[in-house]
Amino acid sequence: MARMNGNFLNLKENYLFIEISRRVGEFARQNPGSRLIRMGIGDVTLPLAPAVVEAGKKAFDEMGVKSTFRGYEDSGRGYDFLREAVSGYYKGFGADIPPDEIYISDGAKSDSGNIGDIFSADCAVTVTDPAYPVYVDSNVMGGRDITYASSDESNGFAAAPDLSVKTDVIYLCSPNNPTGSAYTFDQLKKWVDYAVMNKAVIVYDAAYEAFVTEKDKPRSIMLIEGARKCAVEICSLSKTAGFTGTRCGYAVIPKELVLSAPNGEEKPFYKLWERRQGSKFNGVSYPVQRAAEAVFSPAGLRQTREAVDYYLGNAGIMAKTLSELGVPFTGGTNSPYVWFKCPNNTDSWEFFDEALHKINVVGTPGAGFGKNGANWFRLTAFNTRENTLEAMKRLKELF
Ligand code: PLP
Repeated sequence: MARMNGNFLNLKENYLFIEISRRVGEFARQNPGSRLIRMGIGDVTLPLAPAVVEAGKKAFDEMGVKSTFRGYEDSGRGYDFLREAVSGYYKGFGADIPPDEIYISDGAKSDSGNIGDIFSADCAVTVTDPAYPVYVDSNVMGGRDITYASSDESNGFAAAPDLSVKTDVIYLCSPNNPTGSAYTFDQLKKWVDYAVMNKAVIVYDAAYEAFVTEKDKPRSIMLIEGARKCAVEICSLSKTAGFTGTRCGYAVIPKELVLSAPNGEEKPFYKLWERRQGSKFNGVSYPVQRAAEAVFSPAGLRQTREAVDYYLGNAGIMAKTLSELGVPFTGGTNSPYVWFKCPNNTDSWEFFDEALHKINVVGTPGAGFGKNGANWFRLTAFNTRENTLEAMKRLKELF
């Protein structure tokens, strides 16, 4: 009989959103008149920008005409027009990334999970606790040992490297999901120095870079000196431009980055990634790549900015409320998330039930992102202004 990958037995049950949905469903059935406000799941709610829709429609029209029809995209790395647009976007905030270091994908979750294919099974992996779950799950599936870098109240949920721990692969996410905290240039430089010292690779998830508003927080790890020798950046249009249902992202792989082969030789990381993608990935559809290109046009940048600013406005309202209540929290400034301490150090699932039953607000228990989230709670800004204001009014009543 075919045998399963036994590492799957080491995965934790993926029950966070299933359990949330079960509890909310039960509550809604028992309380049909209640006005629930859902601030749990991190999905965007505003529609695609007009410039993006127009570009996507035009590209679909081209697909229906013999002379402009396109099949497979030969390189699988993304069309030049999009790689150049992404490169121009990076230039806009001071990072010099040539188009041939940009690899278009269907999103940051797949890139974050797939990148594990090219690391040896005996690499030591470092993940922050709490973290977006794919970093842990993909490495458990690959059979790698994981050590956790603690993000907690004492360091403002911005974990720092433990110089006494040897590591090979480090997963960082800034601005962070779930905590909303964002690394400063200085904090990130410490990680880069640590990675260079260990000859480790940082897999840097910048899916929320568009939400960075403070000048001392980098939007890309590539702005840190030394990063080109040790980091891969993974990014997405999901939150920047509402592409969660459209699917497009990109990875930045500097030409200098190398991995060690079993015989000790150094192999360029990008060649391994191209080999991996060449075997397992056939690219992102032409219309979606054209729609993605439009995100970086002047009209696209302006229109998508409006949506990000709207979410940031909601996040600011949540942060203001938590400040007024004197509740310890992170996020709300460079992120669509606020992450706050449950009152009286309550267990996050207990607080979830309390918020659901007493004020009809749905959030996400921090326990779902790691043990350091056990008494913390995440709310998202991906709601209407009206609902955000109403939820904050109710939260004040609860506290
Ligand atoms: N990375 C982080 C940190 C996220 O929070 C999410 C989605 O919530 C993703 C990646 C997924 O991005 P994509 O939709 O591009 O797969």
